[in-house]
Amino acid sequence: MFEVPQWAFEFHGHECPFMPIGYRMGTLALEKLGVSRSKNHEMHVFSEMGIAHPQGCMQDGIMASTSATFGKGLIEKLYYGKVAATFWYPGKGAVRIALRNEFSDSLSPHEFFKYRKKGIEPSDIPNDVRQDIINMVLRATNEELFNVKMLPDFEYEPPKGSFNKAKCEVCGEYVFERYLRVKDGKKVCISCSGHEKDEFTRPKVK
Ligand SMILES: [Zn+2]
Ligand SMILES: [Zn+2]
Repeated sequence: MFEVPQWAFEFHGHECPFMPIGYRMGTLALEKLGVSRSKNHEMHVFSEMGIAHPQGCMQDGIMASTSATFGKGLIEKLYYGKVAATFWYPGKGAVRIALRNEFSDSLSPHEFFKYRKKGIEPSDIPNDVRQDIINMVLRATNEELFNVKMLPDFEYEPPKGSFNKAKCEVCGEYVFERYLRVKDGKKVCISCSGHEKDEFTRPKVK
């Protein structure tokens, strides 16, 4: 049976089946690409998950097993609403791993989801119900869990990093250079520029 370290559950915050699915997905990606977890800035993950749907927990599992973390800028979302991700590693290529429909269907009748659909959060679901569905994930083979496709033509160039920063001429706070904007001839941060949209959609703060 596959083992997910306890610290990964602690990091994630609750016990659910999708964090372990992501953990296994990341572990399989490391195997397929012949690499170990990313100490620095090696692997880059493109998660196909979106917002406002379940199963996003998968991404914490991916981060835990690969160390391709949000903080290091190594995982981003494509917003396709699929339980799938592409893993790219410099010099090693890329692999896309998707949860099989069959496995997804085998989980859905489980009692765990009866609680979830009633709005009960995973940490409030009885422990034996949680453990039972997690064990389904840990007992399954990689073949039962995933469709795997090597992507020999996948190309990716990570954005070039820079330490350069400057002070916004309005609020005075430091801004990394690529986020400086020019407004009325002044170099300003995005908040002070009044730009509504830039590289991502920010929540509106009133
Ligand atoms: Zn979860
Ligand atoms: Zn500013």
